[in-house]
Amino acid sequence: MATIFSKIAAGEIPSYRVAADEKHYAFLDINPVTPGHVLVIPRKEVDYIFDLDEQDYTELMLFARRVAKAMKKAIPCKRIAVAVMGMEVPHTHVHLAPINSEGDLQFSKKTPLPAEQMQSIADSIAAEFE
Ligand code: 5GP
Repeated sequence: MATIFSKIAAGEIPSYRVAADEKHYAFLDINPVTPGHVLVIPRKEVDYIFDLDEQDYTELMLFARRVAKAMKKAIPCKRIAVAVMGMEVPHTHVHLAPINSEGDLQFSKKTPLPAEQMQSIADSIAAEFE
């Protein structure tokens, strides 16, 4: 059975898309740790990131790097933080979150944003993606 993230990447479940290619998909986390929190996934269904083979792992991280660069241009912040946990969804995903201090990255304190704001953030990141 397809994971929820495979369904999102296939467009079967709606998402705020920020970037995609034939092997990867990037979209806003529905419950962001900071505004602009993005999830980057391989389209291939592998639960645990370190079970990806070397090529898939490298390509995922290079794609995440391009997304992070777009986020840094689109959203005023000091850094784009990178995290991988995978405690909730069994499909590899890299969290990218704009931060201004270490304290911004509190995954136990996430706040949903209005749909309009989510769409506007996604559009501004997508516009910077190269
Ligand atoms: P983790 O598995 O790394 O602990 O976290 C999974 C992340 O996926 C969470 O931050 C959660 O908010 C996000 N998430 C779970 N389901 C959905 C969904 O259906 N759509 C989106 N955009 N994000 C989701």
